[in-house]
Amino acid sequence: MTWVKVGNLHMPNDPAIGATVGVYPITANAAALVSGNTGRWGTVNLNLTDINNGAYILRITPANTTTEGVGPAVASTGPIPARIFRSIDIIIYITQHDITDVNVTVAQMVNGSASRGGPEIRVIVNLMPVWMQSGNHNSRGSTTIDTIVIHHTGIKVTSSAVNTFMSGGTSAHYIIDTQGRIIKMVQDTRRAWHAGSSLWRGTSGINSSSIGIEIVHTGQTDSYPAVQLTSLIALIGRLRVAYDTIETRNIIGHSDIATSNNVLSRKSGDPGTQFNWQQLENNCYGMIPGAATNVAATKYDNYFTTFTGDSLRNDDNDAQHRLGGTVRANYTGNPVTEVQQDLATIGYSVGVANGQYGRRTANAVKMFQQHFFADGRGGQANGRVDNATAIMIKRVLAGVD
Ligand SMILES: [Zn+2]
Repeated sequence: MTWVKVGNLHMPNDPAIGATVGVYPITANAAALVSGNTGRWGTVNLNLTDINNGAYILRITPANTTTEGVGPAVASTGPIPARIFRSIDIIIYITQHDITDVNVTVAQMVNGSASRGGPEIRVIVNLMPVWMQSGNHNSRGSTTIDTIVIHHTGIKVTSSAVNTFMSGGTSAHYIIDTQGRIIKMVQDTRRAWHAGSSLWRGTSGINSSSIGIEIVHTGQTDSYPAVQLTSLIALIGRLRVAYDTIETRNIIGHSDIATSNNVLSRKSGDPGTQFNWQQLENNCYGMIPGAATNVAATKYDNYFTTFTGDSLRNDDNDAQHRLGGTVRANYTGNPVTEVQQDLATIGYSVGVANGQYGRRTANAVKMFQQHFFADGRGGQANGRVDNATAIMIKRVLAGVD
């Protein structure tokens, strides 16, 4: 007798219960030579007595399974299982009625992993989950889904993010791993806990109205793999088909909605300056800046033509004519107020547009810069409005109007 154990790639001691495990000839569409179902420990005992030496397929078909294209349809109707795993085909070698070697082809690696075990468990299979039900969610109430919030995990290991969302007090609807594979953890209809204290376009508590997508990615210097962005864009497409109430301009980053308080937290670098917003914009997702040529040089009461090379900054004040850190007694424009009004119209939280460039305004400017100057689109994320930032604010304003 030969024991096979089937578990979860992203969670230790999480058995795949009720999976069908069969040994098949390599020939396509052949019937199983022997098969069985995993029990409560995820194990099954196969009797290989009648099987000759040679190569075979070990096929794992989980109790609940689906293929790629993970999105709104997964775990959306009927009794919701705790887990949905991918199926996998593993090449095995049988010698003397025992499994003596296992091999996962490159094509099958997206579905999980397999290795030889010890004297008791001969093969250990770990399946890639597509649905792991997090307990961290509650009702959206009557709120419509109109926003997608994009995050990065800040940690490189998918398992860590998955386990955090299974245990701690946070969650997201979807996680995209570094190979572009998607794991769903909260039903779209439920309110996941990803955005925290947040404000966008005058509304606070964005968890109620949003779908949260976490991308497995570390710091501010690591680029996002192309497959990950491709997968994200496809997922956004599926979400937009399912929920036509999601507005393009509301496809935003966690950092965009992070300035509800005066103090920025870790979310201020989320999804960070490496995130390629332009690729989303090319697919008509997100806030899409208008043409630079349409921005008048007279913008912001001619501030940037009057004081060339200057930048609006912390502690500036229109009423006191203190601008660019200097009192400009003869200048009567109100550029700070206009910056505040424009950022608020776009969606950023600046508090009251009172012409006082306080910390909250500086934070909103910084988060705006982080988004629109990300991935090499030029400009610095320093919280000051220089001419380049001013032009970009007007471009984005034109794009969302
Ligand atoms: Zn986040």
